[in-house]
Amino acid sequence: METPLTAAEPMLWSGWGDPAKAAELPPPVRDLLAQLLGVRAPATPAATFGEVRLPPVALPPPVLAALAAIVGDGHVRADDDARIRHTRGKSTPDLLLMRSGDASDAPDAVVLPGSHDEVAAVLRLCAEQRVAVVPFGGGTSVVGGLVAARCGSEGGSEGGSEGGFAGVVALDLARLNRLVSVDPVSMIAELEPGLRAPQAEQLLAAHGLTLGHFPQSYEYATLGGFAAARSSGQASAGYGRFDDMVAGMTVATPRGTLEMGRAPRSAAGPDLRQVFLGSEGAFGVITSLRLRVRRAPDVRAYEGWRFATFAEGTAAMRRLAQQEGPPPTVLRLSDETETMVGLAKPAELGTAGRDSGCLLVAGFEGSPGDVAHRRDGASAVLVEAGGVHLGPEPGDTWARGRFSAPYLRDSLLAAGATVETLETACFWSNLPRLYDAVRLALLGALGSPLVMCHISHVYATGASLYFTVVTAQTGDPLGQWAAAKRAANEAIVQAGGTISHHHGVGRDHREAYAEEIGDLGGEILRGIKERLDPAGILNPGVLIP
Ligand SMILES: Cc1cc2nc3c(=O)[nH]c(=O)nc-3n(C[C@H](O)[C@H](O)[C@H](O)COP(=O)(O)OP(=O)(O)OC[C@H]3O[C@@H](n4cnc5c(N)ncnc54)[C@H](O)[C@@H]3O)c2cc1C
Repeated sequence: METPLTAAEPMLWSGWGDPAKAAELPPPVRDLLAQLLGVRAPATPAATFGEVRLPPVALPPPVLAALAAIVGDGHVRADDDARIRHTRGKSTPDLLLMRSGDASDAPDAVVLPGSHDEVAAVLRLCAEQRVAVVPFGGGTSVVGGLVAARCGSEGGSEGGSEGGFAGVVALDLARLNRLVSVDPVSMIAELEPGLRAPQAEQLLAAHGLTLGHFPQSYEYATLGGFAAARSSGQASAGYGRFDDMVAGMTVATPRGTLEMGRAPRSAAGPDLRQVFLGSEGAFGVITSLRLRVRRAPDVRAYEGWRFATFAEGTAAMRRLAQQEGPPPTVLRLSDETETMVGLAKPAELGTAGRDSGCLLVAGFEGSPGDVAHRRDGASAVLVEAGGVHLGPEPGDTWARGRFSAPYLRDSLLAAGATVETLETACFWSNLPRLYDAVRLALLGALGSPLVMCHISHVYATGASLYFTVVTAQTGDPLGQWAAAKRAANEAIVQAGGTISHHHGVGRDHREAYAEEIGDLGGEILRGIKERLDPAGILNPGVLIP
């Protein structure tokens, strides 16, 4: 068993990431936002930590004592600091609520189990005592996946949850942070779910291995959260999505333990791993993951290409995704607006405005020979598709700033801009329609926002679309975004996209998800939930229609 050498800095309670990396917007950028979008400083300053309003702890002391008897003194925390830091996730509405001092969704206590058996015992106790349990990884959910419905009437679980819960606990998996074993022959590593991605990479690097999973939330998100929300990282073209990496897993449920995955592929009936991948803590708690690993690359090379239009760039992405050989490790195409705004220097890509073209970043990771081979193959495809090679600079710029956008969001929120992202996916033939539908919905709902988009996850049959929206905050930024999000969700459903390619369902996408899977699909999920969690304590209100 190996534990990581370093722990990440605690996350900023009302924003993103390491507080030391927070940055103010430079005055010229503020001026530009005011001119272009009419952004004005918010009327009320953000609440300080001391001003946050927390509900009283609802859980009776004997239940807190019983939890402590399982996980040990010091591993059940009902102090303000722990409760505030486990309130909601990190979507823009979550941050706006915290900035306004509203911690009304705080759990009553934070429970930190140290082993699978402790998780199982906590679930048994909470089922008996009717305490809702929210599994908590890195706390980076952007779909409302960390807010329990206290009344128990939401969430599709009819059994036993009427009348509400005695309280809510956040089950923080941070102490399950070990690299349990490495099987270098099968190229599988067993890791615990509370490991944050950088810690996991650090432990694997000591064995010359990598997972290759680098979402933008990399600094803080955990392996358990990746599996529970079907995450996809920036290098998904080369390393695959997180759910592709899961060879096996152990899950604790209120009814008992499940061990899944004993062969690379199996014809032994439906694959039960798929029931828990994407289950967002509603069916059980993932306590161990057997993950496919790769050799750590010797070389990482990123470069930029210019395409005249998003349509031409999209066609090039498709050709790379459908070619015989392996695609680049990273493949990312910004539309005209995103290209112009920031991913590259517009002056180098052409004149400003919609003539700036579109930036495609291609990245290659592996041995020197493999990188050279794949780069040559991809270059030939990209040239033939009309791409102009821009050299390594745009690729290196992207790689340097790949985890910094969430910090910029905090600065923009403080300056009076609403900024949020949303994502979807569909088959290639439908992609232009979906792109237009979501853009139009956002433009219609918000007046004159900046709507940017990129494609960064590709498959032989289709791709995802990732939108970033920036607009001037109104006096009711929560209502403003809720209306825009509703319009975007409707557009996604109507245009044939999935409601999420990698953020998950949570509470925010539950309605659209219900429509996506239909009545019978919802019934199946409720049936599984009732079998595994008859008291309905696991993440009530999340996922299940
Ligand atoms: C700035 C930012 C950028 C992001 N970029 C990306 C991106 O590039 N790609 C991407 O895929 N996502 C991205 N996300 C979304 C988020 O990081 C992912 O959904 C991630 O998988 C969540 O991991 P986590 O450890 O933070 O999980 P949490 O947010 O703590 O939990 C997510 C859900 O999983 C459940 N859960 C957590 N751990 C377990 C467990 N062990 N067992 C059972 N259920 C569990 C929780 O109850 C919750 O419903 C981003 C989020 C932010 C804020």
